[in-house]
Amino acid sequence: MAVARDVCRKLARSLRGGSLGRQVALGTIGFCLVFTLVTVAVRTWSAWHATVDAMRQELAQIDKVFERTLAKAIWEMDRDALRTHLASAAQVASVGRVELKIRQANRPPEVLDHRQSGWTRSARMPSLQRTLSYEPYEGAREPVGELTLDGDERVLWKRLQAEVTSIVITQIIQSLLLAGLIMWMFNRSVTVHVKHIARHLAAMSPDTLQDFVKLERPPRRDELSRLEEGVNHLQGSLYDYLARQRQYERELAAHRDRLAELVHDRTKELESAIARLEELSRCDPLTGLPNRRHFDEMKDVELRRARRSQQPLSVLLCDVDFFKRFNDAYGHASGDRCLQAVAEVLKQNFSRAGELPARIGGEEFAVLLPGVDSAGAVALGERLCLSVAQRQIPHKGSEAAPYVTLSVGVAQFDEVTMDRFDVLLQHADEALYRAKRDGRNRVAS
Ligand code: GH3
Ligand code: MG
Ligand code: MG
Repeated sequence: MAVARDVCRKLARSLRGGSLGRQVALGTIGFCLVFTLVTVAVRTWSAWHATVDAMRQELAQIDKVFERTLAKAIWEMDRDALRTHLASAAQVASVGRVELKIRQANRPPEVLDHRQSGWTRSARMPSLQRTLSYEPYEGAREPVGELTLDGDERVLWKRLQAEVTSIVITQIIQSLLLAGLIMWMFNRSVTVHVKHIARHLAAMSPDTLQDFVKLERPPRRDELSRLEEGVNHLQGSLYDYLARQRQYERELAAHRDRLAELVHDRTKELESAIARLEELSRCDPLTGLPNRRHFDEMKDVELRRARRSQQPLSVLLCDVDFFKRFNDAYGHASGDRCLQAVAEVLKQNFSRAGELPARIGGEEFAVLLPGVDSAGAVALGERLCLSVAQRQIPHKGSEAAPYVTLSVGVAQFDEVTMDRFDVLLQHADEALYRAKRDGRNRVAS
């Protein structure tokens, strides 16, 4: 009883909720209904025939019982006995009408009719007709009348109705129990495990990939086992894939770091190469002094500074005397060495902050002297000439001295008359020209 109640409760719950069990139960009930209809039709048809046969047999039974006694009562013209026999035959439920025809000599037969109230004739009902005969003594059989028994259709329908009702109720109970049983079995063997797998999948995350699903049931080789294996296989593959992915990411990060280091190193190298290039592009390769380009950049800087600070700015233009003859006399390589020696003297003489000695042409040099006025510049120029002369580099071709000498032109920046540095350089060049003209190895301003 308790199991049946439990099955009914589960059946009702499944029919309400959307589940596989519900679909199976509905399918089963639908099938059972169709099956019930077919069964009812077949069994009703067979019950109809069985009932008709039963009625026919009942009529035959009545006929057998009353045949002799009725024939005797007719022979003896015992009307009371006849009525009693007919009434008791008509009492039998399946009999709708009893008709007795009594033969009479030279007269139409007398008919005794006994019928159930409301009885109507039906072709579907069995009917039995018998000729009654009496044997008053041995070998003298005389026909005395005819007995007709008709079945009552209402009895047939009543019996059929009871039969069909019993079939329908049995089938419905059977269908519901079958649907409940199938659903209960389906729930126990499928739904519970499918829900377990669904919960497992819903709770799955990259950290729980190694917790495999395990169905709580004895091991079997069926679709659920294959689903369980499939889920676990998928988890395993996912775990391996993620592990490989993490490994790739680690390697990629290491490569990235290495690449960043390389880029950093290369950038540093590039920066120092660029710095070196910059330096080289501003440096005269023979003497190591700043070149013309550097001098041009710095002259503008110093000019702006002098204007801003209202400080004097002077420039020296220096030229080696008779240097062509030096080359001619000692060779070009010696000429180079001579230029290097002169550059060395320039570096020694102008090493203070702001002072900028530069090689601006073949054997021509210039010195920027910020914060130095014309007189100071002349003094520095004279000190330079002296220093070069003191190196005593032999120069047999010079008409100024037997050693290498310098001529220096000096000019000081004047904001009123000079609008740009080139004018200052022009003035220094003119002064240099005068120093050359006046005998070389001297300073002119
Ligand atoms: P002045 O006294 O009037 O200046 O006469 P100079 O011979 O010095 O002047 P000039 O302009 O006639 O000759 C300059 C020479 O400098 C010509 C050139 O061969 C030489 N020279 C220029 N650059 C270099 C160089 O880098 N190395 C060498 N060895 N000689 C150079
Ligand atoms: Mg020159
Ligand atoms: Mg010269």
